Amino acid sequence: MIAGIKENLEIIKASIPENVTLVAVSKTKPNKDILEAYHAGHRVFGENKIQEMVAKHEELPKDIQWHMIGHLQSNKVKYMAHFVDLIHGVDSFKTLKEINKQAKKHNRVINCLLQAKIAKEYTKFGLSFDEISTILASEEFSSLKNIKVIGLMGMATFTDNQEQLKDEFSSLKIFFDQQQQNHSTLTTLSMGMSGDYELAIENGSSMVRVGSAIFGARNYIV
Ligand SMILES: *Cc1c(COP(=O)(O)O)cnc(C)c1O
Repeated sequence: MIAGIKENLEIIKASIPENVTLVAVSKTKPNKDILEAYHAGHRVFGENKIQEMVAKHEELPKDIQWHMIGHLQSNKVKYMAHFVDLIHGVDSFKTLKEINKQAKKHNRVINCLLQAKIAKEYTKFGLSFDEISTILASEEFSSLKNIKVIGLMGMATFTDNQEQLKDEFSSLKIFFDQQQQNHSTLTTLSMGMSGDYELAIENGSSMVRVGSAIFGARNYIV
């Protein structure tokens, strides 16, 4: 895999429909790996740590679209507010307000996804479906002019059980479709990683976040 970033990208791109966005998850990987994907024509990269993404943004070509896919600490939003393209893991109204505040300082509208809790295993992060519908319907939410919630994001349980994965993905797709009826800004459903992106796409994903299948295994756990 080490020398095959371009080849891995080509194989994955060929296997996913054109209307599905591929986010190349480059966390922990050096700039030279990102540049290899960049020179192969790829522009959308995902990171899960704000500091690491900021450093890479400063060093790498400015037409890269940076997606923040990790858990957010509100106090760090300010460091990426001037450039981040999409924030996937918004899991509280407080964070949404902080993003709005920081985006306003830069006269920007920042695209966000609300993270839904779909995994059956214990996870700390993510909103329940009820919490998401409450946020989207609230007046305070509609007063936030510098953020735009363009969709939802979910992480399935870490398991090989295909039936369980399918249930988790399809439950989010059904909820997403329901919400879309009332909120037409919802266009993006981010679900699927290296091990399960094909199943996620079959179950309605429009954006997949793929790391190790492109860049190889990560050297350390994050
Ligand atoms: C690391 C990460 C990914 C990519 O994981 P792979 O299994 O390497 O494809 C996707 N989504 C999130 C939120 C991640 O943190």
